[in-house]
Formats: sequence, structure tokens, C-alpha cells
Amino acid sequence: MEYVVSDILLSDEVIHRRVKELAKQISKDYAGKELVTIGILKGAVIFLSDLIRYIDQDVDVVMDFMAVSSYGDSTKTSGIVKITKDIDINIRGKNVLIVEDIVDSGLTLSYLIRMMGEREPESIRVCVLLDKEERRKVPVNVDYKGFDIPDKFVVGYGLDYAGKWRNLPSIHMVDIYMNSPEEGKSMRGGDI
Ligand code: 5GP
Ligand code: MG
Ligand code: MG
Repeated sequence: MEYVVSDILLSDEVIHRRVKELAKQISKDYAGKELVTIGILKGAVIFLSDLIRYIDQDVDVVMDFMAVSSYGDSTKTSGIVKITKDIDINIRGKNVLIVEDIVDSGLTLSYLIRMMGEREPESIRVCVLLDKEERRKVPVNVDYKGFDIPDKFVVGYGLDYAGKWRNLPSIHMVDIYMNSPEEGKSMRGGDI
């Protein structure tokens, strides 16, 4: 099978407009406070770095990162998440914002929220750029959401397929060809 970047689902212009709006809301909610952002590597890197530059300067933003991998076949997540890189900061008593690229089944985020909660932060909220709500298996309370998207596999603006295409400024769907693009027969954005 071959995977080819296809149509734009969300252009960089549309993304930036929405990221600014999210930052404005976050700026209002945390005005005069410290905010520890926890970006989930690697997908959230581009989103988080744009987001914090749009947050007002009277919010004291601290950045940290965490890397996770789910055990076993990632398309059929077990719900058990392995932390491959933990944050460096002690978040006890802090206002925490988990920043993630996309919420799909919800298993990753629900695990992370529970785990971070055990560290007794002052507050914990979640910010995601994309939400495939129809795929949800466990409920996740998303406080700041960029866009609802259909159940299609997407890449770009930090999101990858096999490590590639994170650098694309816009978010694209992916066409999957059973044989080759020349021979045709594409299946758009299924579950990779
Ligand atoms: P879940 O919510 O199922 O635990 O997993 C979310 C993770 O699955 C995301 O952080 C992301 O890594 C991956 N994922 C889900 N849908 C997509 C998609 O359409 N494109 C890409 N590139 N990754 C996705
Ligand atoms: Mg992710
Ligand atoms: Mg990925």
C-alpha cells in the first residue's frame, strides 16, 4: 500500500485563526497566573509552540513535555499508556494545561489526566487541536478545542504518518492506494 498526502482539511490560515482564539480564551482564564503547559510529544509540538506565542504576556507560561507510547497495536489501543519521557517539573500546586494534537479514542488523554491528577496540581485542563469525537471509547473532558473533524486519518501541522509530514503547514487527509497512485483505487483516510 502507498500513502499520499491529499486534500487540505484545514489550511494554515484557518488553523492560525483558531489557535489565536484558543490563546485568547486561555489568556483570559489564566490572567496573572502561572500556567504549566505539558505538550505531548511529538505531535503537539507545532501546535503548542504557536499557541503559547499567542498567549498574553501576563500569563506566566512554563513549557514542559511528555512522550507516551501505547502498548501493542496502536490502532487497537489497549488503554495502557507507557510514559517514555516524563516531565521535568514538579506540578504539585500548579495550574496545568495538557496540550495534545488530537483526541481519538480518548484512551491516551484519560490516562494522562488521571496520572497527572495524582501529582496534586492546583488545576488540570486539556487543550486539543483536533477532535474525532465519533471515535471516542472513554470520555475525556476537553476544555479548549480547536476543531471537530470527521473520522479520517490526517497529517500535517505536527501530525505524522510513520514519522513524516509533521512539517506541512496545513492539515491534510491521506489517500491510501492499494497498488500505486498511477493504478488508482484509492481509499480515503481510513484507519491506518
Ligand atoms: P487516542 O485518543 O486514541 O488515545 O489517541 C490519540 C493519538 O492517536 C494521537 O495523539 C495521535 O498520535 C494518534 N492519532 C489519532 N488520530 C490520528 C490522525 O488522524 N492522524 C495522526 N497523525 N495521528 C492520529
Ligand atoms: Mg499525540
Ligand atoms: Mg503519530
